[in-house]
Amino acid sequence: MSDAPHATSGPELALSIVIPVYNEEGNIERLYAELTEALATIGSDYEVIAINDGSQDRSYQLLNALQARDERWHIIHFRRNFGQTAALAAGFDAARGQVVVTIDADLQNDPRDIGSILDKFAEGYDIVSGWRQNRKESLFLRRIPSALANRLISRSTGIKLHDYGCTLKAYHYDVVKGVRLYGELHRFIPALASQMGVRVAEVPVKDRARRWGSSKYGFGRTFKVILDLIVVVFVLSYFNRPLYVFGAAGFLVGGIGALLGAYLTVFKLLTENKIGDRPLLQLAALLMVLGVQLISTGIVADMIMRTYHESQHKPIYFIRERRRSERHDEVAEQERELPTASSAHPEG
Ligand code: UDP
Ligand code: MG
Repeated sequence: MSDAPHATSGPELALSIVIPVYNEEGNIERLYAELTEALATIGSDYEVIAINDGSQDRSYQLLNALQARDERWHIIHFRRNFGQTAALAAGFDAARGQVVVTIDADLQNDPRDIGSILDKFAEGYDIVSGWRQNRKESLFLRRIPSALANRLISRSTGIKLHDYGCTLKAYHYDVVKGVRLYGELHRFIPALASQMGVRVAEVPVKDRARRWGSSKYGFGRTFKVILDLIVVVFVLSYFNRPLYVFGAAGFLVGGIGALLGAYLTVFKLLTENKIGDRPLLQLAALLMVLGVQLISTGIVADMIMRTYHESQHKPIYFIRERRRSERHDEVAEQERELPTASSAHPEG
């Protein structure tokens, strides 16, 4: 992939680490130590982008201190708490690495797993997702809902992952620049990116208990995830031409209505019976109106999609790579110059 829709220039570094931070003062020092140690063994250029998502504790000061100590660290402070998805999105916008790795600040992910994620990535994947083994969280509140959600998301999006919820994931530069996030959609990035034609792999990673502080989420997140899933499925299946989906349903329903209407008309003309009091007539009229409505909804949805694509310069295709010879470019360049030189306006 080389032509990401939102990429202004290409990646400038090997690796970006993106970390959302919300009230994690007790974890920051340790995070720095573990991450720096783990990345030292990887040995490529990297940057760390920590997004302080409106923390009310000392995370602000601690992150600034890290940044003063280590120039590879960039800090983005939000004005208020915008949520983990927004924090990740800010990190993605700022990221300059060829590979972008996301990791939680609470050390539930082990930074040493970044190595195996990157190894897998190097085999030629666009997304490599961590798959937490031996989850430490509560069975009923976390693990069962999460297992069900992963099943459901895998089945309805066609991208089969065991652990959508694991933040430790690696993405190709083009993926993070190409996927727009809102709501709680960050966990669906692999599914949303499936539109781009990405290759996705999983790597088992450790799951550790939170080191300090408590989780920012409760059971309520499950409902948000389900609502988001509905949106994702809609976006994925109706994306390019919603008119085709609504239109097909409209033709089907309207067609049945028209057939019923035709039957009643013929019936009346041939037998001279009254049809005015027949429920079938009401059904025929209802179906025909419904058909028209479905088709017009499709047209409206289509126009919304068009605005969406054009206002965001969203392409309807994604290119993995381009190859063409330099010589061909030069020739093309010369040919383009010819008309303006002299041949376009031959004098005399
Ligand atoms: N987080 C954030 N903004 C929020 C909530 C969470 O940036 O509004 C960060 C948090 O600091 C942590 C990560 O997102 O680094 C995951 O949050 P948490 O550990 O609470 O989620 P859980 O592990 O329980 O799913
Ligand atoms: Mg956590």
